[in-house]
Amino acid sequence: MASDTNDYRRLIEIGIALSAEKDIDSLLERILIEAKTMLNADAGTLYLVNQKNHLEFAIVLNDSLNIAQGGANGDPISLPEIPLVGQDGKANLLNIAALAANNKETLCIDDVYAAQNIDSSGVKRFDTLTGYTSRSFLTVPLRNHAEQTIGVLQLLNAKDQSGNFGPFSESSIPLIEALASQASVAMENRHLMDEQASLRRQLEHEVDERTEELKNALSKLSEAHIILKELTTIDAVTGIRNRQYFEEVFDQEWRRAIRQSYPIAMMVLDIDHFKQVNDTYGHLAGDESLRAVAGTIDGLFNRPSDVVARYGGEEFVVVLPYVNAENAAEKAEQVRRYIENLTINADGHQISVTVSIGWVSITPQEAMTSRSLVACADKALYVAKADGRNRVIQGTYI
Ligand code: GH3
Ligand code: MG
Ligand code: MG
Repeated sequence: MASDTNDYRRLIEIGIALSAEKDIDSLLERILIEAKTMLNADAGTLYLVNQKNHLEFAIVLNDSLNIAQGGANGDPISLPEIPLVGQDGKANLLNIAALAANNKETLCIDDVYAAQNIDSSGVKRFDTLTGYTSRSFLTVPLRNHAEQTIGVLQLLNAKDQSGNFGPFSESSIPLIEALASQASVAMENRHLMDEQASLRRQLEHEVDERTEELKNALSKLSEAHIILKELTTIDAVTGIRNRQYFEEVFDQEWRRAIRQSYPIAMMVLDIDHFKQVNDTYGHLAGDESLRAVAGTIDGLFNRPSDVVARYGGEEFVVVLPYVNAENAAEKAEQVRRYIENLTINADGHQISVTVSIGWVSITPQEAMTSRSLVACADKALYVAKADGRNRVIQGTYI
């Protein structure tokens, strides 16, 4: 009785240890070692039912032969799988492990050589090959909650106190069955947890992928948005900035110049007698001339804060933050000269044009408006036209 109590206490301890085992290979190994130790068996095997409905050797231990195959630390398994169903479609009831698995019953064989209705040829072959003597077998099916066989626990050769092989005692059967039942629960739990972990990993992976896709899509969208925004600021005929862009940026620059008290210059430029260009060479040549003049003006202003835009028709504006009157006058004169010396090849014609420029530079103050600066430069342009065109006139802010 004392021994029984110890056995069952041991069983409880094993149950707790099994439920804590995280790795499936270590778990299987532990089950087999505990079973072998409890029943003082010389050898043992743990089989698992695989997808093909075969019994697959998961762990093989044999103390006398010093064999340890499978599990977490053993050598590779060298034994072939055992089909649970024969080629005739009938359950395999000849092999001991298959018989226990198919019948879902514990099988206790005292002497395999004397057993009836059992195919012991495999065992005999093994004994001949290794010099081992297989005698007693205790074979217990492992079943899941749905009563399906998921594996088989098999112990071989119970040892007596002097180490001789004898039969397993009847009293050890309930013990090994209790262990098998605990082992089944632990294996099923581990399997479920592994499956859950794998599903979680898969889910995380999918979420990561989707997030990455979403990020890419957003980044493309924002790139497209930037390009689109950029495009809406460009004038289609000349390829330089349009009036809308000028209004927006000039206003920002104006307010910044007020805050930081620096000068800002602006020019208004108009091509002289441009109507004549159209009338003489045609509208296409007119367009090309417009493009050439725009490109030339644009090319003369390279600082990032400079803005050159088409104001409308054959009229352009230039905004130059930080540029005082002296430099603005120089720049305006430079533009006038460049255009005067420009020969435009347009629609088979060589065309020359001139521009009139009104400009103004000021360090703006709160009370002033950017609009009034444009009006001021415009007025100067009007004077340049009236004075004979192809000239530069400084405006005065009033
Ligand atoms: P001014 O020296 O007084 O400025 O004379 P102008 O002929 O340049 O001025 P006017 O305002 O009489 O005529 C402007 C011309 O510019 C008329 C118009 O056909 C032409 N124009 C405006 N926009 C375009 C354009 O996009 N393409 C072409 N080809 N011509 C344009
Ligand atoms: Mg004009
Ligand atoms: Mg004009």
